[in-house]
Amino acid sequence: MSRVYNFSAGPAVLPEEVLAEASAEMLDYRGTGMSVMEMSHRSKAYQTIIDEAESDLRGLLHIPDNYKVLFLQGGASQQFAMVPMNLMKNKVADYIVTGQWAKKACSEGKLYGTANAVASSADKTFSYIPDCSDLPISEDADYVYICENNTIYGTKYKTLPNTKGKLLVADQSSCFLSEPVDVSKYGLIFAGAQKNVGPAGTVIVIVREDLVTEDVLPGTPTMLRYKTHVDAGSLYNTPPTYGIYICGKVFKWLKAKGGLEAMKQYNEEKAKILYDFLDQSKLFKGTVVKQDRSLMNVPFVTGDEEMDALFVKESKAAGLENLKGHRTVGGMRASIYNAMPMEGVKKLVEFMDDFETRYGK
Ligand SMILES: *Cc1c(COP(=O)(O)O)cnc(C)c1O
Repeated sequence: MSRVYNFSAGPAVLPEEVLAEASAEMLDYRGTGMSVMEMSHRSKAYQTIIDEAESDLRGLLHIPDNYKVLFLQGGASQQFAMVPMNLMKNKVADYIVTGQWAKKACSEGKLYGTANAVASSADKTFSYIPDCSDLPISEDADYVYICENNTIYGTKYKTLPNTKGKLLVADQSSCFLSEPVDVSKYGLIFAGAQKNVGPAGTVIVIVREDLVTEDVLPGTPTMLRYKTHVDAGSLYNTPPTYGIYICGKVFKWLKAKGGLEAMKQYNEEKAKILYDFLDQSKLFKGTVVKQDRSLMNVPFVTGDEEMDALFVKESKAAGLENLKGHRTVGGMRASIYNAMPMEGVKKLVEFMDDFETRYGK
């Protein structure tokens, strides 16, 4: 067996310990004689799995008691619709457009009401986070929406926007559990699992309980109402059982690592190795303004498309996979989520250094 260093933006690297444990439990989950995939979601064994997942997540994020935790399907993109369907009581919401995912969410919001783009960084290919200290927040906005870490462009909010008292909704898909978060500052947080916590298809929603009501937009399907899932403890219908099981293992792995403070430190150290290299390199250049750099997704370019292609090709041959940048940015992108070990980033930087020696001017 030979595992590569996988820098994919998502689905992405998972902790090897988690995969090994899941593999050991595949045929016979703890004496049940079946795999978790084959198990009823109404069984006692499964109830324990989902209960522990929720309680470990609550512990990691110190989620206040007045917030509900949901494990749903449909990925992060389904939340682009569920958020307005459930929260757009006045049919007005303000979106801060910092990349493709925020833009998609804003477009989806327009299907249900007035979705204003109150700020955008499109003018510079989303390479920065706009100043959000005094935005023209709409008087009757039901919420202000952000994509907190921009997976494609490699930017991250270092301070949350001033929402002027309005509810904050955040897509945290690509920074979820990478550092501590004050959940009480948000009305709703959601995160697709496949970036930092588990298999694709599962999405985690953390929502303040007073926002979970029957007062949703007319025609909202039962399955797309938060209340349906809150009332049923995420077991209204068959949830993504195996995905939740893996997420639960990742939560335990994070706890064993020392929790989110420790993870933040580790992620900062890891990212610094790469950013420090980029800042002194004469061949490679980071694409994001320094103060808005993400700890999770690091895009960089050489400025020469052929050189970029050569780099992607040679890095792959060296066991460094999925470094090709997103098609809208070009160049390269190294996603260095929680499960990317320090050694992986060091290997990448060594390779970049060697590549620069060979091809740099
Ligand atoms: C990947 C990603 C999404 C889309 O996730 P899906 O599960 O494919 O719907 C949305 N937002 C962000 C920030 C992402 O990184």
